[in-house]
Amino acid sequence: MFRQGIHRCMRLYSPSLELSKGILNRNGAAYIRTCYSSQKRLAATSVSNADTLKKPDMFCYQCEQTKSRRGCVTVGVCGKSAQVAALQDLLMYVIKGLAVHANRAINMGIYSSEACDTFVKKAMFSTLTNVNFDQDRFPEYIRQAVEYRDEFRAPLIAAYTKRGEPLCEALTQGPAVWKPEKGYDDMEYLENEGHKVGVLEDQQIYGPDINGVRYMTLYGIKGLSAYACHAEALGENDPWVSKFIYRALDFLVSAKKAERFDLGLNLQMALDVGATNLRVMELLDKGHRRILGTPTPTDVCTTPKEGKCILVSGHDLVDLHTLLKSTEGTGINVYTHGEMMPAHMYPKLNAFKSLAGHFGGAWQNQKIDFATFPGPVLASTNCVIEPLRSYRDRLYTLNDTGIHGVRHLDLHNPTQMKQLLEHANSLSGFDSKTAKKYDDRHLVVGFGREVIAQHADTVINAVKSGDLQRICVIGGCDGSEHKRNYFTNLAKSLPSQTLILTMGCAKYRLNTINFGTLGNTGIPRLLDMGQCNDSYGAIMVAKTLADILDTDINSLPLSISLSWFEQKAVAVLLSLLSLGVKNIKLGPIMPAFLTPGVREALDEKFGIVPVDIRHPDEDMDDMFHN
Ligand code: SF4
Ligand code: SF4
Repeated sequence: MFRQGIHRCMRLYSPSLELSKGILNRNGAAYIRTCYSSQKRLAATSVSNADTLKKPDMFCYQCEQTKSRRGCVTVGVCGKSAQVAALQDLLMYVIKGLAVHANRAINMGIYSSEACDTFVKKAMFSTLTNVNFDQDRFPEYIRQAVEYRDEFRAPLIAAYTKRGEPLCEALTQGPAVWKPEKGYDDMEYLENEGHKVGVLEDQQIYGPDINGVRYMTLYGIKGLSAYACHAEALGENDPWVSKFIYRALDFLVSAKKAERFDLGLNLQMALDVGATNLRVMELLDKGHRRILGTPTPTDVCTTPKEGKCILVSGHDLVDLHTLLKSTEGTGINVYTHGEMMPAHMYPKLNAFKSLAGHFGGAWQNQKIDFATFPGPVLASTNCVIEPLRSYRDRLYTLNDTGIHGVRHLDLHNPTQMKQLLEHANSLSGFDSKTAKKYDDRHLVVGFGREVIAQHADTVINAVKSGDLQRICVIGGCDGSEHKRNYFTNLAKSLPSQTLILTMGCAKYRLNTINFGTLGNTGIPRLLDMGQCNDSYGAIMVAKTLADILDTDINSLPLSISLSWFEQKAVAVLLSLLSLGVKNIKLGPIMPAFLTPGVREALDEKFGIVPVDIRHPDEDMDDMFHN
């Protein structure tokens, strides 16, 4: 059996995270120890999804919608071209080379570059699912990564020389020394270079099991980088996070061979990613509240107002804030889309009269929503997809988001902001007749951790009286697949003595259903806590309840059904696992990068299992009785 081959005793210690200590172990020891019995090489224990695919045009298995549950091999289901896939692979490769330098320079006390730290996170963000499809942007990312790497190389070599030591092997080979022999303008060359350094090449070395765990680490780092970019936009940064990123990437490249091939150590590194992501989400939570105020339950208007308009999609609330400042008093109405809807729960955003309401649903509906919106549309971050011709010239990308041929905008550039407002004024906007076509859905957002904490006594009393038998977290990402109806059906199947916490765009599966209130407490049974960026809040709620009940998180009447889609969700999942949270149900399908053997090991250690998409009622039953 797979698990019998794992010998490594995994240990987690995250000294900077008091939170971990509180949740994991009431006595304060934040250790996870998992000891497995014997040591065998594991790589051959499961059939490689990738091995069966000989020399495909590309290979990517980083998201849930990956082709045939194995990997996208000609073009991404998301629309990512083989060329962009190769350029992203090359970018990740050179960033690993940069990290090899940065980690050593940090250890020698000669590293300091906030600009590089920010660049690395942004570049990682650009490679997430549904972020950047513009092949023309990637040579510049690659060039910058090489330049930052080489900036650190000279002082590093000098430091080794001064010590009288030869350069370590990792600095003399692979991504540490990759050079753009034909420059950055030769796309075919860059693409060919990218084809040499992707998932399949690594799998030849590590085998599917260990490679999958290593890529889980990488995808988790991508996710935490995305969250860190959001936090930085709010002025929140912790240099320790970047140091961890370099250390983790360096581990993937240059740890001793025995360590790189050690499944236990690789799993531990993935958990460390999760622990670091907790810190990042804490920063994000803090930044949102400091800049935008404390979330408050808020009715969101979904009937458009007559007038000129701009739609903002993605997650970046700072972008929205910037836009609202510029549109206030201009007569241009700003609407949120997708994951921007939680903007309405922040008092300092809601105070703008130009924030007119919400338009449309989750990201996968954008081809309908954007096509029917009579104004410019901004994609601040993910999830954006190749636009239809009907709205292509109205779409703008921001930050590290990109679509080839679609205008890219810097909202902090006054000239570009002016052009955007002129564009909005040149379009029809909503007339009174069109505006009335849209139903006024009753959507309420804003049940942040503070609101729930205020009602903690009521919740605890309801638990004690039996009025509340279970708190179910049903949240995360959404997507277009029919099987995601599972999450709707699961929520519908829950008895009335259940509270449902949701966040992320998975909320759109639930937020038009009337779940009523919990007994006579007046608390709505469905509580929308915000974006996927607000998952930290759900963890804090669990911690608060556990503290009050003098127990740990796994002893709470709490079940988690996580709807995952992309790499932010991987980071959140790893955060939960780093806290020792058990019995998470994950769906709609399990990640393709986790082989059956690794899933078995994760099930054994954490009780993490796939949702049963055909039988949500049985999963519900399981939640209540296991
Ligand atoms: S991001 Fe997802 S859909 Fe896109 S190429 Fe990768 S696995 Fe396929
Ligand atoms: S929650 Fe995930 S799937 Fe939904 S918009 Fe955000 S990144 Fe995309």
